[in-house]
Amino acid sequence: MTAAHLSARGIPALLIDTAERFGRGLAYSTRQPVHILNVVTAKMSAWPADPAHFATWSGDDGTTFAERREFGRYVEEQLAAAPLVKRAGGMAVDAERDEGGWTVTLSDGAKVAASALVLALGNQPPAPFPGSDGLPEQRFVNNPWSDAAEVAIARAAESQSDVLILGTGLTMIDVVLSLAAAGHEGRITAVSRRGLVPRAHVSPPGAPSPVSLEEVPLGSLMALWRWLRIRSAEVGFRAAVDAIRPHSLAIWRSLPHADRRRFLRHARPQWDVHRHRIAPQVAEQIKGMIAAGQLDIIAGRVASMQASADELEISIARRDGRESVRRVATAFNCTGPLGDIRRTADPLLRALLADGEISFDSLSLGLEVDERSKAGPSLWALGPLTKGMYWEIVAVPDIRGQAEAVASDIHKELLSHG
Ligand SMILES: Cc1cc2nc3c(=O)[nH]c(=O)nc-3n(C[C@H](O)[C@H](O)[C@H](O)COP(=O)(O)OP(=O)(O)OC[C@H]3O[C@@H](n4cnc5c(N)ncnc54)[C@H](O)[C@@H]3O)c2cc1C
Repeated sequence: MTAAHLSARGIPALLIDTAERFGRGLAYSTRQPVHILNVVTAKMSAWPADPAHFATWSGDDGTTFAERREFGRYVEEQLAAAPLVKRAGGMAVDAERDEGGWTVTLSDGAKVAASALVLALGNQPPAPFPGSDGLPEQRFVNNPWSDAAEVAIARAAESQSDVLILGTGLTMIDVVLSLAAAGHEGRITAVSRRGLVPRAHVSPPGAPSPVSLEEVPLGSLMALWRWLRIRSAEVGFRAAVDAIRPHSLAIWRSLPHADRRRFLRHARPQWDVHRHRIAPQVAEQIKGMIAAGQLDIIAGRVASMQASADELEISIARRDGRESVRRVATAFNCTGPLGDIRRTADPLLRALLADGEISFDSLSLGLEVDERSKAGPSLWALGPLTKGMYWEIVAVPDIRGQAEAVASDIHKELLSHG
């Protein structure tokens, strides 16, 4: 979207990504119809100035949860309509600063010169699960978004073998839906510290209950949490959580550093399941699988993992003190994207880190950026990489504004440099 906004301002933009991902990225390159958006079409426009754009494109009343691959097709169309956007297929592996700006090197050795560089690399795959090194890769799938994960899902469905999922959030939901769509009927166990599962949207949505920023307590996590609990009891948690979304940046910025850390350590799991809700029909399916005993959600932690010839034996220390042992053919690491970019496998981020061009933010959520999303001179970052600065910068309704603001900032800088 940044590229499309640049094009609209008369600035040529070159996108670097693998061929099948232009405009789709990780979330929207899924081929699975069961992977549907967790936001209604009315809120998924790519264009901040035209919030109904995607709903109109979809031809619905805005209350539908469309397929993610449809949204990918929509973004691709927006990109195709931007005349000054070009594409280079491949991985960016290095970026060197020079007088004109940047020279970016691609994995095939090709070099690209640019006046400005935007890092829109999205979510980093999860860090390898502790204790998983040494386990056979086809049994323990560390990256649930990889081609290897698709193969493992197909294999589990074919053999109807039991599966273990580490993590009980949105990625777990995706893997469960993919297994079910592939015809898997074996038992699925999903484990996380608290065993919290994303809550559901309701259809039709309840009445909104907006609040002004003045009503929200700023500067203290305790005060904010207490207020949110009371408000949730009054208007329901969905309306209460949604009402503070427009103020999320002001709230985040008002919190002392220690409170932001406290939020990440203690409140984040609760926040995530109430904030990132799933479509009602997905929630129904998950509920049905739990009721049928096919999906078992456990609050606990992995105590040990061992591989034998044809299975993994995983012992789980449950929160209630008991121990459960699962023997499964496959396990998936669905603990969420890597935040600490010091551990990233992305070659471009590694090169920029090594050269001191970028640094990690103090909460290890991504990159250090300023209020203009700048990570350095002539260098911008977008989306999940900028969570340390903005926190709520993961979903389309938030990122689209950032994409436009960054394009406008680049335009201004280029004009000022003549
Ligand atoms: C599974 C999933 C489902 C989601 N569902 C929703 C939803 O329903 N609604 C919503 O609002 N939000 C959703 N989100 C969140 C949000 O839409 C995405 O996080 C958002 O698309 C991020 O956009 P992005 O352009 O920053 O990154 P991405 O869309 O992830 O794109 C980053 C791209 O960078 C490429 N890349 C990375 N490193 C390099 C490199 N070195 N060289 C070249 N290319 C590279 C990757 O291949 C990838 O294609 C979802 C996220 C995920 C992961």
